[in-house]
Amino acid sequence: MNNHTTSLINKRILERVINLFTMPGLPGAGVFCRDGPPSLLHFYNRDVFADDDAAASLPSPPPESASEPSPTPRRRNRVALSLYDLDGTLIRPKSGYKFPRSADDWMWWHRDVPKRLRADVAAGRHVIVLSNQNLNGRVLRDWKEKIRMIAHEIDDVPIRVFAALDRDKYRKPNIGMLEYVLRMYAERGWDVDLRKTFFVGDAAGRAGDHCSDDRNMAHNANLTFRTPEFHFNQPFPLPKAPDEVAAVG
Ligand SMILES: [Mg+2]
Repeated sequence: MNNHTTSLINKRILERVINLFTMPGLPGAGVFCRDGPPSLLHFYNRDVFADDDAAASLPSPPPESASEPSPTPRRRNRVALSLYDLDGTLIRPKSGYKFPRSADDWMWWHRDVPKRLRADVAAGRHVIVLSNQNLNGRVLRDWKEKIRMIAHEIDDVPIRVFAALDRDKYRKPNIGMLEYVLRMYAERGWDVDLRKTFFVGDAAGRAGDHCSDDRNMAHNANLTFRTPEFHFNQPFPLPKAPDEVAAVG
């Protein structure tokens, strides 16, 4: 076992220990990373890169003779992302209030949401949440606890959550949060298939929507955009704007 593999295993053990102390009763519910920009929260429940890193760390067999060509370089992975907004798209307050009252004041936006996320994973896609939040203090702690609960509820789905906390380049409709994700994939040796990547969000500029930040971020990044009603096949009366906008080119 080489140093790289050992450090990966140590990291996984450390994350498990952190989880045990931060969320009693929910071991393995995920970790918040501290290595990114302060205004961008980053959580994941399973590291989709870890298995790939472990495989990459295995030594290549030496060539049997000097004339034998060296092994071909490892092919880069390629993946399509399923990008989701959080509030009003994947979840909503179960209290019925507009804003959640506590960490556990949430329910799936529709009962089919977990099924759809599992279908994404079964199709080989990676599930990533891109959310705008205005949080600090106790409300931020509640929000983090809620994210762990959500991840625990769908423990079989590798999910990564990003939240833009400030009014900066990471906040939708800016595309800094997406660019951070793409850079992270590139640095780990993965290509993202943007033509097959979509973004689902409820801030779509329809009548009654609070804003159009989700639709505009998709537009700014040239991503296919869908409303949750369209994506989860739910009725929505008289949409004032199209429910899906395909990326151009
Ligand atoms: Mg929303």
